[in-house]
Amino acid sequence: MAPLALDTPVRYAKGVGEVRARQLSELGIATLGDLLMYFPRRFDLRRQAQPIATLRGNEPAATVVGQVRDVEERRFGRRPWLACCLDDGTGYVLVKWFHGGYLRDRIKPGLTLAISGKVSVFREVLQFINPRHEIIPDAVSETLATDELLPVYPAGAKLTSGHIAFIIRRALPEAIELVPRWFEPAYLSKRGLMDRPAAVAAMHRPEDKEQWAAARRTLAYGECLLMQLGLAMMHLREVSRPAHALPPSQEIDRRIRARFPFTLTAAQDRVIAEIVADLSRQTAMNRLLQGDVGSGKTVVALYAALLAVARGKQAAIMAPTEILASQHYDKVQAYLAGSRVRTALLVGGQGPSQRREILAGLAEGRIDIVVGTHALLGEGVRFAQLALVVVDEQHKFGVRQRTGIRGKGFAPHYLVMTATPIPRTLAMTVFGDLDVSVLDASPPGRGQTVTQCLGGERMEEVFGMVEGKLTAGQQAYFIYPLVEASAKLHLQAARQAHRDLAEGPLGRFGVGLIHGQMPPATKEAVMRDFRAGRVKVLAASVVVEVGLDIPAANVMVVMHAERFGLAQLHQLRGRIGRGSADALCILVASPNSPAARRRLETLGRTHDGFEIAEEDLRLRGPGEIFSVRQHGLPELKVADLIDDFDLLRLARRDAFDIIKEDPHLDAPHHQQLRRELLSAYGDRLDLAAGA
Ligand code: ADP
Ligand code: MG
Repeated sequence: MAPLALDTPVRYAKGVGEVRARQLSELGIATLGDLLMYFPRRFDLRRQAQPIATLRGNEPAATVVGQVRDVEERRFGRRPWLACCLDDGTGYVLVKWFHGGYLRDRIKPGLTLAISGKVSVFREVLQFINPRHEIIPDAVSETLATDELLPVYPAGAKLTSGHIAFIIRRALPEAIELVPRWFEPAYLSKRGLMDRPAAVAAMHRPEDKEQWAAARRTLAYGECLLMQLGLAMMHLREVSRPAHALPPSQEIDRRIRARFPFTLTAAQDRVIAEIVADLSRQTAMNRLLQGDVGSGKTVVALYAALLAVARGKQAAIMAPTEILASQHYDKVQAYLAGSRVRTALLVGGQGPSQRREILAGLAEGRIDIVVGTHALLGEGVRFAQLALVVVDEQHKFGVRQRTGIRGKGFAPHYLVMTATPIPRTLAMTVFGDLDVSVLDASPPGRGQTVTQCLGGERMEEVFGMVEGKLTAGQQAYFIYPLVEASAKLHLQAARQAHRDLAEGPLGRFGVGLIHGQMPPATKEAVMRDFRAGRVKVLAASVVVEVGLDIPAANVMVVMHAERFGLAQLHQLRGRIGRGSADALCILVASPNSPAARRRLETLGRTHDGFEIAEEDLRLRGPGEIFSVRQHGLPELKVADLIDDFDLLRLARRDAFDIIKEDPHLDAPHHQQLRRELLSAYGDRLDLAAGA
């Protein structure tokens, strides 16, 4: 027979027949390697089992292990029940399962059984009623020291944890020899990591909790490192694409700054310096710009765009919606009023002749800066000299579109902006192939935003507070969640909300309505009225959440705030407090779940977007926010993105160091990593097989 290897079908492992092999495959275990990496969910201490003789008959929870003696099936009234006697040599106890008929074929005399549950006494006999039970296979019970950690495997496909433990225990001694080492001993000891084969073995049979923790840490590090190696290689590939160098000069800098009616903040200066350093190279920038709402990202983006224009090239700024695109466009035009920079707006709704003209302008280099939606990604969009792409609100686009504009034979510099602060773990994973700049301070002279949380029964008070602000000349948003399942119902709900407001105490200030089902032109008209102050109150659904910038609107009432996510509420709140006056945010909510209450408390406590984002991640778990898989990254089985953050950071540093020294992993001592990387990422890394 061929020697065993990690990719040997599990069928050839000792003690695994055809039936078992089929069951294992249902659990995703096809090979010996899969089996080795099928880890226990937790461990039970057999030591927890107590001698039966020590039971007193009133224990709320006890565990015993013994041999099954007599099994009896009876009827109690109309309920069939199963009873057996369990004997551990020190005494015996009666175990009863009502409705236990299904156990008939499982619980047999001679079996070793572990039982946990409440102990009681019936006619002077100790008994467990409907306890939890686990059948311990003979081979295991014979070899298991009484104080050994008993692995509990995720069961399924008719395989109990005990079955799986048995199979792995038999396969382990031979199979463990096959586990390859990824690193040299010095590398491991420097980081306090275990040898990989020893770590895999200890995941199944640790000597104690400490050894298990060290093993887990070792494997988690390995997962993080593989992921980061892949990202480091993608990063290297991106930043080594040839691009137009856009070197700065004092004269250009002076001219760009003169465009802004304010002095840039220190944070803006620092981030601009990082970007300019990238742009002046002949390789492409690949950078993520994070900054809380209102921190001044647009200004930074425009600086970069103007540098490109000053060097005779074109820049594209892409936003997720038409409203945002035209808002950016208006701002860009305002900053550039009286300059020779030629700008254009490209969105989906434009007429054919207008569109043709813009496309021609881009292709012939007659337009310097184009602002648009994903219409910019459309067929037929060609640039004469595209040197920079800025994508605003990246997370609305998704990863695939992000690559779209690059795939057209250009090598533009690439700047992604997001107003949603990305927790550090996500920045290192989903956006891990990008360099990161952070705008961590807002422009000066902003007012304070006070956040209040009120129950739905206090609407009169809410109206009173808002009325006061409106009388003082401010404007207010009323935000409604999208609660209705169908578009039609949602429309009704929005209209109803609008009617309620218009007929209520705030009606005399003028109430506008904006929602998702409106045609873009109508939306624009409503926004114009609100911007101009012709209506002072805007009833809005979430569609308008991102990027709106109306300084006079300084009051926001979020209805049913408990239905919004934390990050979403933070985004919404960021729409106000943009002027110099103090802002007021009222969260109207009946928080009926602890999670909802915690979300609202967090918002009341802090305005720090990063803190809120991390809390959001903690509350919802990474799975709900993003899936590593979905972003094409290798799956993490052992590592936890939140708990293992330090490990992730260590792995990232190591991975980028490794790739810097050995970009294609050609060194002999990197060959195993290279193989692992190939199997984790497939051919996406252009790692030609077998170098
Ligand atoms: P973001 O895109 O990060 O939400 P913007 O670039 O739109 O932020 O800026 C928000 C507001 O702050 C805008 O009205 C802008 O004119 C203003 N602003 C930006 N930078 C400064 C600055 N350095 N000093 C004063 N105001 C600024
Ligand atoms: Mg913005």
